[in-house]
Amino acid sequence: MIKSKILILGSGPAGYTAGIYAARACLEPILLTGASKGGQLTTTTDVENYTGFPKPVQGSWLMEQMEEHAKNVGVKIIEDTATSVNLKTSPFEIITANNSKMYTDALIIATGAVAKWLNLPSENKFRGYGVSGCATCDGFFYRGKEVAVVGGGNTALEEALYLCNHASKVTLIHRRGAFRGDMTMQQRVINHPKINIIWNHVVDEIIGDDNPKSVTALNIKNAVAGTISTLPINGVFIAIGHKPNTDLFRGQIDLDNDGYIKTQAGTSITNISGVFAAGDVQDKIYRQAITSAGSGCIAALDAEKYLSSTL
Ligand SMILES: Cc1cc2nc3c(=O)[nH]c(=O)nc-3n(C[C@H](O)[C@H](O)[C@H](O)COP(=O)(O)OP(=O)(O)OC[C@H]3O[C@@H](n4cnc5c(N)ncnc54)[C@H](O)[C@@H]3O)c2cc1C
Repeated sequence: MIKSKILILGSGPAGYTAGIYAARACLEPILLTGASKGGQLTTTTDVENYTGFPKPVQGSWLMEQMEEHAKNVGVKIIEDTATSVNLKTSPFEIITANNSKMYTDALIIATGAVAKWLNLPSENKFRGYGVSGCATCDGFFYRGKEVAVVGGGNTALEEALYLCNHASKVTLIHRRGAFRGDMTMQQRVINHPKINIIWNHVVDEIIGDDNPKSVTALNIKNAVAGTISTLPINGVFIAIGHKPNTDLFRGQIDLDNDGYIKTQAGTSITNISGVFAAGDVQDKIYRQAITSAGSGCIAALDAEKYLSSTL
């Protein structure tokens, strides 16, 4: 049995930053890494927008630095995953995949989210080499180039509009004959001179070179006729949504309609006293490493305030 003042679930930018602040407040935090140690950033190659690193750095390397920083200030990092939580008890009870029973006075949930992918073998092969899940992160790499965006909801429309700042042409590929996103944004997309829309098509295969590893075209399939055509492009952004990692908490904490943890505006405070949420698990708008790290800091400060008022 392990007892802590603060337990942090997640080893992405939000979790590690929460750990650093909690450790420096002498709260001896324990952090469970979860199955994907380092979080989403370990699945990408170049990161060019994390403040303080003027040259591109590898996502995995950046997360190793965050881990080392957390360790150096005294965060106890355990490679394990929470498999059940009881938020009705005091202290909160957490059971892990390795069958540890943990109790904590304050809980910071930083379990992140996962981008939804098409699950094509070729998509996997070129991820980070022309296939991206984030226009804000990678749009800059496609200055003056032709790109495609796959999807038809708000995320896809936003990504397409954002990419117009960089790319020479943006082709939006949607499997249906109409968008699902908000009407004003739909009109902006439809009227944008750089955006070409291909309705009723799905991506059949992503085509590219091995040396250097890069995307050169998409094979797209007409969802009605079944015919396949080839679209030359330099990069493809998959924008079919994200899934927050909140199944574990369902029924115990307030979630919004998309499954994200609800927090009070400008804070990490949830509807359960002593439970805080940080990073992508509570943010469906910004979804950046730096905003996640910032909200990890907020969560640790909120938790510290909570503990000092209750213990
Ligand atoms: C391909 C790709 C490229 C990206 N590029 C950039 C970029 O260039 N710049 C940028 O700013 N952002 C980028 N992002 C976005 C950025 O990675 C995320 O916004 C950020 O990682 C979110 O951090 P987080 O700490 O909230 O969660 P995550 O990074 O999602 O980490 C969640 C953590 O929670 C853990 N976890 C999950 N469930 C449990 C559990 N039950 N128990 C314990 N732990 C659990 C996981 O193991 C993981 O460690 C990119 C994202 C992707 C997918």
